Amino acid sequence: MTQKPLLERILDWLYPNRCGVCHRFSDNAICQDCKSKWSLIASPYCLWCGKPFDPIAKTSPLCGICLQGRYKFDYARSAVIYEGVSRETVHALKFNRKPRLAQPMGELMAEVMNRALEGEKGLLPSPWQRPSMVVPVPLHPKTQRQRGYNQAALLAEVVGQILDIPVESKILAQTKQTKPQATLGEKERWENVKGAFEVVQPEFVKGKVVVIVDDVMTTGATLNECAKALKRAGARQVYCLTFARTVSA
Ligand SMILES: [Zn+2]
Ligand SMILES: [Zn+2]
Repeated sequence: MTQKPLLERILDWLYPNRCGVCHRFSDNAICQDCKSKWSLIASPYCLWCGKPFDPIAKTSPLCGICLQGRYKFDYARSAVIYEGVSRETVHALKFNRKPRLAQPMGELMAEVMNRALEGEKGLLPSPWQRPSMVVPVPLHPKTQRQRGYNQAALLAEVVGQILDIPVESKILAQTKQTKPQATLGEKERWENVKGAFEVVQPEFVKGKVVVIVDDVMTTGATLNECAKALKRAGARQVYCLTFARTVSA
């Protein structure tokens, strides 16, 4: 990780009320200007995995991957497209030590979850059910030690608090050290995370509806592996909720 220049560190200390993304003065973790540039995901999107569609090219309620039935989770939803300021926000939370950003990001994610729970009832073969726990995608202990915190756990805390659903950050563990997904191509990403997650207390998730929280969904391979582990442990339904998702190909 690159150290901030000394002057910037001194300024941060003198003037802590700055936007976590553009560093301009702001009383909030993110300024209104940056927040207004988040690229919100709106209908139409794949009803299974939440991937936004080009409204003109759209021919089916499901995307290509979901038509093949590749995902093991029941549904996934994301708040914004991973581009521009949305992407900078994720990077600031994850790499620039701006944990305060989890609050506005988590607020938007909770809104998206609420909309799915209340607004999509008639559209889907098996309706959304109210989750009984929020589970963040775990980091390998070594990665967490290096970063100092798990950004997914910070987001999960905010989502859980707003929706009034308990957060369980210890029931899912990453038991295999994986390579950073960002360094891999699509095929390798699926291989890399295979068998990497385990439910520590299976009796705790048996018969439950679980929502997994992460910062970004790219191929969905990580979330899919987490969902597989939870389903193996007997979870009744597993949803995924991320702040951002990539849309390229
Ligand atoms: Zn800003
Ligand atoms: Zn899909």
